Amino acid sequence: MRLTWHSFDLYWCVIVYLRNKIMAEIDVVKKVNSKRTTRKVVTDPVFGAHSAMSANVLPTYCDVMKAYLLRKHELKSASDRKEPSFTEVANSVISDIENLWQKSSIPIITHQKVMEKLKLYHDRYRNLLRPYKGRQHDAKYKAKIEDFLVHSMSQLFDIAACKCSDTANCTCEKERKVPAAERNFLEDQRHGRRMMIGGVDVKMTQRLQQRNKRKNMDFEKRAKFLALQSTAEAKGTCMSSSSSGEEEMSKDGNAEVEAVDSDTDYSAIGQISTQMRSPLSNLARECDRHGVSDRCAAALATAVLQDVGLVTGNDCAMVIDRSKVRRERKRKRKELQSTSLKKRLCGIYFDGRKDKTRTQVKRGKKSYPKIVVKEHITLVQEPNSEYLGHVTPDNGTFIFP
Ligand SMILES: [Zn+2]
Repeated sequence: MRLTWHSFDLYWCVIVYLRNKIMAEIDVVKKVNSKRTTRKVVTDPVFGAHSAMSANVLPTYCDVMKAYLLRKHELKSASDRKEPSFTEVANSVISDIENLWQKSSIPIITHQKVMEKLKLYHDRYRNLLRPYKGRQHDAKYKAKIEDFLVHSMSQLFDIAACKCSDTANCTCEKERKVPAAERNFLEDQRHGRRMMIGGVDVKMTQRLQQRNKRKNMDFEKRAKFLALQSTAEAKGTCMSSSSSGEEEMSKDGNAEVEAVDSDTDYSAIGQISTQMRSPLSNLARECDRHGVSDRCAAALATAVLQDVGLVTGNDCAMVIDRSKVRRERKRKRKELQSTSLKKRLCGIYFDGRKDKTRTQVKRGKKSYPKIVVKEHITLVQEPNSEYLGHVTPDNGTFIFP
């Protein structure tokens, strides 16, 4: 084939076209390569490679800063903007930190306070790096960076609301206190850092759910109480419903839950606590002396207070319920036992009589109540005729000398 001027022109056009296409491809590759960052770029001169926080432990300053730098890098590469602001990155990291702390059921400081804490540390970190390039090979500067890193790795980014060194003897408000079950974990995270956050604690979750249920029930009850109060005022009668309600609540098991609930703050609905907190030593002593039941004693005592005018339709704070009587009797017996044991005995006198006594008779594995006639020998200390106790012979009768 003979090459003509015309065909040469065509070839030239094709070559130019192909060259332009190749150059365009190279441009695209260059652009992609310029966006792709190497490990060297995401490595920090102080904290090393960036990484996300672990979900099993509370983060240290080092963990937080690594997560912060990673998030900053992600946000920067996600959009074409130059640099995301501190607040934007910090907000995202802080919500992760807060979630971790909430997972471990420890009360924390406010979001704003956490933000200030992180900002302070971030400023320290920035100041350390200013300037980095000029002195990066200086031994003294290297040691300074090393110290900063070691400190950040050992210190917990502590956002607990309670700052007491001894969490067991904490003096903070109730909402800020670390729950008893989490105290060891927080201590460990602050110092040794050997423990980890596990999966869901089924027992604890059930307990918390039960506690919340009780709280809600209590609020409902108080609201009902307020509504009924106005009608009771008109009638001039006292509503002892609150006391019977308390009895029902104290029946079922968990002592800890009870203790927490008894401290519930009702200020939210404007109701003064209706709990009877006075010690009732004399009532307890007389109940034991006359063998009156708790329920009967509670009814009698409340009736007297009502007659005296201490319990009215408007004020039910002094109502005594049977649980209160039971607790007071227990306390009084303990108190009497401890005081009588300290005394030195001078002379023992005794007297005896046959009493109808309530006992438990065992048949097989079960026990049944039974009333039997038993001989009771009463021991009395003289002088002052103080009752010491009584004894019962297992068989036969006691012979008085
Ligand atoms: Zn505290």
